[in-house]
Amino acid sequence: MSHYKLDYEEVLRAAGHRVTNQRVLILDAVCEGEGHTTIGQIYARTRMRDRSIDRSTIYRALKLFVELGLVVSADTGADEVVYEVAKPKHHHHLVCRRCGEEQEVGQEAMQAMFEQIGREYQFQVDTDHLILFGLCSDCRQL
Ligand SMILES: [Zn+2]
Ligand SMILES: [Zn+2]
Repeated sequence: MSHYKLDYEEVLRAAGHRVTNQRVLILDAVCEGEGHTTIGQIYARTRMRDRSIDRSTIYRALKLFVELGLVVSADTGADEVVYEVAKPKHHHHLVCRRCGEEQEVGQEAMQAMFEQIGREYQFQVDTDHLILFGLCSDCRQL
């Protein structure tokens, strides 16, 4: 992930933040999630490398990464927030309530709705990572 790390360092510095060892470890731990990862999983991964990192450090770092657009977060609806390294293109997720199967959908699928909201409500949506719940095709047949 070294090529990613370089970009992160630039983004952090450009925004006036220091690139600390802990911040790099926490970002690496998000990367290792390869998809959605919870704060608990990030905590467990970073603790293996630096036992001085506590949950509030991780929480603050994640908040900063989200503000800077390096990481996206989403509420799973089950009182849990998941984190993921931001991709060059916005994407969203469809999650099956019954079996938990997950599919990724591109921004195109949401674009028309966001534009309509913009026109009708004079409201510019900037949510870049949504989780929509429902039933997948297999579960609908049950
Ligand atoms: Zn995602
Ligand atoms: Zn299903």
